[in-house]
Amino acid sequence: MYGGLFLTLQELEQSIGGLIRILRERRIALKVITGYGFDNEHNFLTDICGKHYGFSVRQNKAAFNSIEYKRLTSKFGHPTLSSYYEISVWNETGTASIFTDEWCGSWNNGVPNNIIEKIEEVMQLYREGKIHCSDCQIVTPIDDYKRHYFAGRYCNNCWSGSTGTYKNIGGWCEIERKENYE
Ligand SMILES: [Zn+2]
Repeated sequence: MYGGLFLTLQELEQSIGGLIRILRERRIALKVITGYGFDNEHNFLTDICGKHYGFSVRQNKAAFNSIEYKRLTSKFGHPTLSSYYEISVWNETGTASIFTDEWCGSWNNGVPNNIIEKIEEVMQLYREGKIHCSDCQIVTPIDDYKRHYFAGRYCNNCWSGSTGTYKNIGGWCEIERKENYE
């Protein structure tokens, strides 16, 4: 038995047209976000040593008075906040998350300078063989990360549940154990 996707030629043409439109919109958005005026369809960063990193920027919204809304309000001190931007950076293969941060403000101003400076720092760390724990943000040598959950890399303490988001309830180890990867 084969798994597959069956499309008529017309459907295929429409699908490709949709994909092309999305890629075009993304290319134009990247010019605004990065402030880089030239056309560039490659969605990656390159550091001074020529090492590549994948990245994405997305707009999120938090429903009024949701837990996420309250977290963002306490982080940014903005009582009417309802949308914000999130930027993530991965290693060159996209298999390890090395940075995620968020900001609120105008899309047209691009990524804030303080976040760009942080990204430069994580690139420097990555060149030295170190990354932040995806939960508690402690800096640890990459070789010390024995386990991971998708692209997230967690220190031993957050993995076992003695620190981090899932402290005392099994840690990321328990989250990974329940995952069926479907
Ligand atoms: Zn940690």
